[in-house]
Amino acid sequence: MRWSKTFIPTMKETPADAEVPSHQLMLRAGLIRQLMAGAYTYLPLGWRAIRKAEAIVREEMEAADAAEIFMPALQPIELFERTGRKEAFGDVLINFEVPRGGRKVHLALGPTHEEVVTDLIARQVSSYRQLPLILFQIQTKFRNEERPRFGVLRTSEFLMKDAYSFGTGLEQLDESYEAMYRAYCRIFARTGLHCIPVEAESGPIGGDASHEFMAPSPNGEDRIIRCSSCSYAANLERADTGRQASSMDAPETMADLKKEATPDVSSIEQVRKLLECDPSQMIKTLIYSADDKPVAVLVRGDREVNEGKVRRALNASDVALADKETVLRVTGAPIGFAGPVGIDCEIIADHDIADLVDAIAGANEADTHYTGVNIGRDYQLETTHDLRDADAGDPCPRCEGTLELVHGIEVGHVFKLGTKYSEALDATYLDEKEKRHPIVMGCYGIGVNRIIAATAETSHDENGLIWPLSIAPYEVLVIPLDIKSEEVMQVAGRYDEELRAAGVDVLFDDRKARPGVKFKDADLIGIPLRVVIGGKGLKNGEVEVKWRTADSPDMVPVAEGVQDILNRLAARRAEESANVPN
Ligand SMILES: [Zn+2]
Repeated sequence: MRWSKTFIPTMKETPADAEVPSHQLMLRAGLIRQLMAGAYTYLPLGWRAIRKAEAIVREEMEAADAAEIFMPALQPIELFERTGRKEAFGDVLINFEVPRGGRKVHLALGPTHEEVVTDLIARQVSSYRQLPLILFQIQTKFRNEERPRFGVLRTSEFLMKDAYSFGTGLEQLDESYEAMYRAYCRIFARTGLHCIPVEAESGPIGGDASHEFMAPSPNGEDRIIRCSSCSYAANLERADTGRQASSMDAPETMADLKKEATPDVSSIEQVRKLLECDPSQMIKTLIYSADDKPVAVLVRGDREVNEGKVRRALNASDVALADKETVLRVTGAPIGFAGPVGIDCEIIADHDIADLVDAIAGANEADTHYTGVNIGRDYQLETTHDLRDADAGDPCPRCEGTLELVHGIEVGHVFKLGTKYSEALDATYLDEKEKRHPIVMGCYGIGVNRIIAATAETSHDENGLIWPLSIAPYEVLVIPLDIKSEEVMQVAGRYDEELRAAGVDVLFDDRKARPGVKFKDADLIGIPLRVVIGGKGLKNGEVEVKWRTADSPDMVPVAEGVQDILNRLAARRAEESANVPN
């Protein structure tokens, strides 16, 4: 492709409203342009990169025996009403009424396709003989993002690969999940994007039933806890810690239990100011309703309760903060004055709590707190649990190592759904004995444009983008220095032609521009290998060949240049695929 014929509007200046490197560089390198908040046009370079990532995704899905389909983005709202997701999505679901033949039809733009694909399977699959089955598509999804930001990292419209598995039971679900998990590891390795699978909140199936694929990046919106010694990694909601229960006995020396008047002071911050203490000395007591039973949950004042952990510790199916009336009933006080001393309900406490000496806690009495609260004397516990969010410095749950907190960009998610959608939409099958069961499902997503954005975010230098060969918009950039020289254009044209004939994606910079401009743009758009033809080099019978990341070019005889480039590309491809797991 000739630069003059394609459309690469590069920019010298960094756009003021672009906060993160990927957004800045994708704009500056002419990959994208914004239409409105959360909606972008992909220009030729950006779209070529997307298409390459998409091709890798498609190949690996098919290699894992997933069959490609294409479902409508327009969906009847009724399907979302049947699964309860119209309410669950709320404003995120873009939906509207359109007039059709004198009546109104209520439609939604698909945020995902569980409903549509389950409805399809409900109508077409009836026997265990038709299972297992994995279907996938690559399609635009719509979500009304409250705050679209960071360029194409968070948009209202995005390209997603979504796959759905259908099986007779947990065994087939596990097999499909494994196949998708392995395919994802191969996909991200092939695209050159460093991704780690992290455990995620698992929903109804429980156990090891959900993983997110995260590209570690300081600007990522997701928080990941990982071990510095072993492979343990989980998102913040899911991450366990290796902390242990300490003694539930009273400390050897302790202060007296004392009531303090704390009028209208109910938050941790207000108590900290009034009583001049540190939040790590306070007991935060939150009243939850677990399957309609009140439970007091204790964590240290500087920590956050992790509701998933509370739910698992109580073996409850539903856990939510209790309402005002319940709090008043079990504590005898309005919200903000609960504490473990004399409370009238079950207590569960985080491990940190047993280590507190002379703590401060609510007194279960309006406008009153206790100081000098001590376990074993003022309240009793049989054991403690891991109930708070993990944090950097906590011990690893799997080894002797220490956990660290990093940020990441979520690019993929695999999830064991179970029968939520098949039950709501009547997707059932008959077994060998003609007995009917709901089909057991899994779902598997990849944000295709996030692969590109995360690559831009994590692979660049001060001069521009650095593409891996596998998803680079072009593999080789041919730069003739003087387009008015017949000799230069003849050699450059031959390189372009022969490389393309060998199956290489070539961009030919035929612009009438100063070499300095061409080199700056070359670094900015980040094509992996560049060949410069002309000037002193050509007079000496040589061309300059340079990797985007190399400090200086290699001089190669004109006659050997094309073969040299092909050899380099083959070696780099082999290098990139050496990292791909089987
Ligand atoms: Zn570890």
